[in-house]
Amino acid sequence: MDHVHSADGPEDCYGCRLKSLAIGLPKDFSSRTRSKAPPRTPRNSWEKGIARDERGMPIIRPDLSEVSVKQYAQERHSIEENRRRAQQGILPTS
Ligand SMILES: [Zn+2]
Repeated sequence: MDHVHSADGPEDCYGCRLKSLAIGLPKDFSSRTRSKAPPRTPRNSWEKGIARDERGMPIIRPDLSEVSVKQYAQERHSIEENRRRAQQGILPTS
């Protein structure tokens, strides 16, 4: 009697009967049997480590990559200088 139980299995197989019954169960049943909560994902930019300016816009390098909070702390001076120049219409020099 070694087989994979399925709803299409033999009528007299208890495992197959269970499978066919499970198909008709409401959704919250399967969610209860699922293993706990989904993996935690970063919910905001701070948790993802992306630096943002005072308007909440991600700080973007000239090559359009996002600047992490760590990088921003390390390169704050040059980033601020480039942003100031950009606001004055001067292209970044780096
Ligand atoms: Zn079976």
